[in-house]
Amino acid sequence: MKITNVEALYLRLPEIQARTDSSQDALIVKVTTDAGIVGWGEVDSCPHVIKAIIEAPVSHTLVTGLRSLLIGEDPLEIERLRHKMYQGTLYYGREGAVIHAMAGIDLALWDIKGKALGQPVYKLLGGGFRDELRVYASNMFQFTAEATAERARIAVEQGYTAVKFGWEPFGRDPKQDCAYLDAIRQTVGDEVDIMLDVGLIWDAKTTLQRARLFEPYNLYWIEEPLPPGDLIGYGKVAEGTPTRIAAGEEDCTVDGFTRLMDIGKIDVAQVDLTRCGLTQAMKIAALAQQRGIPVINHNFTTDINVAASLHFLASVPNAFIMEYCVEPSEISRSLAKNPIKIIDGHADVPQEPGLGVEPNEEIIEKYLVK
Ligand code: MG
Repeated sequence: MKITNVEALYLRLPEIQARTDSSQDALIVKVTTDAGIVGWGEVDSCPHVIKAIIEAPVSHTLVTGLRSLLIGEDPLEIERLRHKMYQGTLYYGREGAVIHAMAGIDLALWDIKGKALGQPVYKLLGGGFRDELRVYASNMFQFTAEATAERARIAVEQGYTAVKFGWEPFGRDPKQDCAYLDAIRQTVGDEVDIMLDVGLIWDAKTTLQRARLFEPYNLYWIEEPLPPGDLIGYGKVAEGTPTRIAAGEEDCTVDGFTRLMDIGKIDVAQVDLTRCGLTQAMKIAALAQQRGIPVINHNFTTDINVAASLHFLASVPNAFIMEYCVEPSEISRSLAKNPIKIIDGHADVPQEPGLGVEPNEEIIEKYLVK
């Protein structure tokens, strides 16, 4: 079997709000083979940049677009192709967008491998640790405490036993922050877990003060309170509060996660499969396992990410819950012909060959940026 094409499809809602909500567009990767098998992946990054990285022609041996490196290659040789893409982009890659683009292709290659061998991806990863995941409803903060609490109420009514709220306008004023958390806790009661996603805006001292202030709300974790580069700050925070500290969605390499764990001392490592790829995610999970750190997914995009997350979380011993974006974007929620169902706050690991999610061509056509 040989790869015949690698395409980057950019989908975008007609109107995009200036919020930290990456469900409003999507970069879908389609890898085609001469055996008729098509693999699907996704990248949560800057879509136009990813498209350029995939489509760029050869400039020289260290500056090459990813498609031209892959045409004619055997899609089953995933680790070797990862190495080939890394070497062929050394001048402009190694971190950030190039690694994100490689991640989307990595997911598509695993999808192809599963379809070619007639097995769900988690079996090829050596998994089977669990056949379902507890899921938390991942929300943006709304612009009032009441509207935010209403989101929490809906999640609990739908059967979720854990809810997360994140980003603006949270974090700017301690009194207002407490009003938000109080409204959420009053609404969901004591049995539901609440996670807080701060949005990278505090320093270490502010985080420690807020963590103490928030203790009555019994937060399950505080996520990304500091800018991603402040590893020493993360270390101080993690050692200074009994509340778990979660981070990782800004990182996309094994080295980045190693630093976050060893210097940043995080308690929960959040791996986005559409930014790391399954191949790297398995290595990150193994390093986390050595350190006694659980891994979870980060996911604010489509069911391709959800499916990849389920296969990953089923394939490592140190996973326990899955993030599921409940923002109502039609691209995220309707891309799959066979959407992943969340029932009573749980999702089953797909059992179909490959990732187990097939995009709906009509949705692609409706939102494709040409
Ligand atoms: Mg987050």
